Amino acid sequence: MHEPVIDLHTHTVFSDGTTTPEENARLAAAAGLAGIALTDHDTLDGWERMAAACAKARIGFVPGLEFSTELEPGGRSVHILGYWPDPDDRPLREECDRLRTERERRARAMVDRLAALGVAVAWARVAEIAGGAPVGRPHIAAAMVEAGAVPDLEAAFDEFLADGGPAWVPKHALAPEAGVALIRQAGGVAVLAHPGSTFPLETHRREVDAVLDLLQEAGLAGLEIDHPGHDEGVVAAWREIALERELLSTGSSDFHGDRKAARIGECTTPSGVVRRLYERAAHAREEDLAWLARQSD
Ligand code: AMP
Ligand code: ZN
Ligand code: FE
Ligand code: FE
Repeated sequence: MHEPVIDLHTHTVFSDGTTTPEENARLAAAAGLAGIALTDHDTLDGWERMAAACAKARIGFVPGLEFSTELEPGGRSVHILGYWPDPDDRPLREECDRLRTERERRARAMVDRLAALGVAVAWARVAEIAGGAPVGRPHIAAAMVEAGAVPDLEAAFDEFLADGGPAWVPKHALAPEAGVALIRQAGGVAVLAHPGSTFPLETHRREVDAVLDLLQEAGLAGLEIDHPGHDEGVVAAWREIALERELLSTGSSDFHGDRKAARIGECTTPSGVVRRLYERAAHAREEDLAWLARQSD
């Protein structure tokens, strides 16, 4: 029998995905997955519904989040995935609140810049599209497409919103090692998301080694190796780095509903790796792994 697999990185309407937790759980069950993680950006708000939906779909649930950190202010964006942090942890909650507030301030500033560039999108519409989720550039891009200012999301980024673009405004962000430390102190487990999309190895090998040294000192547990944004060469190169550094290798779809092409279950993590990740969570309890054990029978 094949080892059961889990998709360890998916988004919903609680951040910048277009699907509900119920839809993600249903899609995961339909794809034959043993479980699925919810890793919305900067928020734990979707956990409760996702837990209920996974129970109903009879699959396991891995509670998580994704922090967008930055190497230096306005610099390279480094995404950190956190799994099983204590949802009542004060510093973690405070940082999520701060990120949400700062995201709104920044999104308003980007809407102002667009207006100055002759692109009229209403802040009220952007907020409506975000629907209470922490506001991100994809929400602004969606409002731009809707207003007929650009043909599609890609054009919105290419012409206006991409890092350093004419309407781009940097956002408050932690340093990557602070993101890992925050997850660790909340009892969670940290994994570096899509490293291949973040660091081109040909040109940035020295930078990568320096960053990974820092992240591992802060307690990094793994690298997201299998990801729709990584081609075969990238996967092979990063798998080797994971082995050298004794980091766990995960896989996930980074599903965003209609906002990205990836489908749930496109890339996955074997249950044995999920078990080893979970064993590094502060509050790991054998009974929490029941769904994993059941799947392997
Ligand atoms: P934000 O968190 O507001 O900085 O927005 C980041 C999100 O925008 C990422 O998670 C991606 O989903 C999306 N994004 C960033 N750059 C691009 C791009 N060049 N094209 C399409 N989507 C992008
Ligand atoms: Zn996203
Ligand atoms: Fe990401
Ligand atoms: Fe993501």
